[in-house]
Amino acid sequence: MTSEDTIVAIATAPGHGGIGVVRLSGDRAVEIATGLIRCSKLPLETQRATLAELSDPNSGRALDQVVVTCFRAPHSYTAEDVVEISCHGAPVVLKYLVELCLERGARAAEPGEFTMRAFLNGRIDLTQAEAVRDLIESRTLYQARVAAQQMEGSVSARLKPHKEVLMDLIARLEAGIDFAEDDVAVMDWAELLSRLDAIRADLEKLVEGYEYGRIVREGLSLAIVGRPNVGKSSLFNRLLNEDRAIVTATPGTTRDLVAESASVGGIPLRFVDTAGIREAQDEAERIGVEKSFQAIADSNLRLLVVDRSEPWTEEDGRLLEKVRPLGALLVALNKCDLPPHTSVAGVRDMFARGSTESATGVDAVATSALTGEGLPQLREKILALAAPAHDRGGDDAFITNLRHQQLIKDSLAALARARRSTEQRVPHEMVLLDLYEALRALDSLTGTTHVDDLLDIIFSTFCVGK
Ligand code: GDP
Repeated sequence: MTSEDTIVAIATAPGHGGIGVVRLSGDRAVEIATGLIRCSKLPLETQRATLAELSDPNSGRALDQVVVTCFRAPHSYTAEDVVEISCHGAPVVLKYLVELCLERGARAAEPGEFTMRAFLNGRIDLTQAEAVRDLIESRTLYQARVAAQQMEGSVSARLKPHKEVLMDLIARLEAGIDFAEDDVAVMDWAELLSRLDAIRADLEKLVEGYEYGRIVREGLSLAIVGRPNVGKSSLFNRLLNEDRAIVTATPGTTRDLVAESASVGGIPLRFVDTAGIREAQDEAERIGVEKSFQAIADSNLRLLVVDRSEPWTEEDGRLLEKVRPLGALLVALNKCDLPPHTSVAGVRDMFARGSTESATGVDAVATSALTGEGLPQLREKILALAAPAHDRGGDDAFITNLRHQQLIKDSLAALARARRSTEQRVPHEMVLLDLYEALRALDSLTGTTHVDDLLDIIFSTFCVGK
């Protein structure tokens, strides 16, 4: 890739649509676009939509009526000259238009190349570029909002003061070393320690927040477990607000794993409805049961459904023992519209009796898949259990990206070394090395120091035209 080329791509999703946009970026963008259109107002006005006719230079015939928008460097997405040609969304026309641009000297854009140019031209930093991708891929409005915040630079803004303190500390320590004889006032050890600790405390908060951030970005999976006919499919449908899983009164028919996503509190929740982990009758069922168990073990949390209108059975107990060691668990006492046999307190007792461990942490909710009773509480508990204690909805920036978390951890490790060295009163040169290291990690996060390999990896996960 060289940024001297003028690049072109279809920027809208594949398929037929109301409009389809072809985007050009680079020094020759305006010239190439102008050569392909007929309109009364030339040269194209900047940041104005201009109605034009797209004509086929080979036949001279009109191909489409288009709207052309021209952005002049540096006031554009890529900070280069950009032209966007909005056609009607006919894939053949869009493809042909791209070909015409290629014939006139443009080059087909690589995935993410428009955004990469915005980064390379210094208009956005790396965290903002990554947020563009997250925004495009968001499945809930909440995810979109978080990504939009990061696109505006929330992560970098949060790190900026720490970088400034580190630079200040480095500058003062460097001065202390260089001018040791001149008796320049260098900060004392206590000040150094307290300033390092302030940075560490905030970076640690960011690292901890990633647990929640990851869930926001990637979503959660919930496995629904229970013996046949307790209402797993019905509950699953209720949670989805849709009618996709098979509901039937014959036991054991929800044989296949069904996976669907819904949004709970803005977090995508993938429900894994399983065949249950009951005793298998035949080989096919044994495979199904094994698959179920794996899916149940791999899920972020498990929902054990029991039929509250029937007495607690041995099979319920066996299921409980199987899923309990796997991690986060919630119990739905379903069919609460019918007269009860099993109470919430009763289930708690069973937990207490069934194991020597304490029953704390296991929560039960009375639900009715039939009437919808208890469903809001169930959603609330799912969220509380899976996405714990982060100030949801707060504008406190949190990180959602593993790469960011790892670099912040690197920075923290360097800060911890700097702290030890400071406590042991080792020469400033040693402390300095660690401070540089701590700063470097934060710089790579925002992309101030970048490695081309890394950029390729990040931008290749974009789609073409972004
Ligand atoms: P699964 O085998 O555990 O998936 O159970 P289903 O969802 O197929 O439900 C089995 C039967 O119980 C169906 O006839 C449902 O209509 C019924 N059912 C499910 N949930 C409830 C509920 O909360 N109350 C009542 N009264 N019936 C329910």
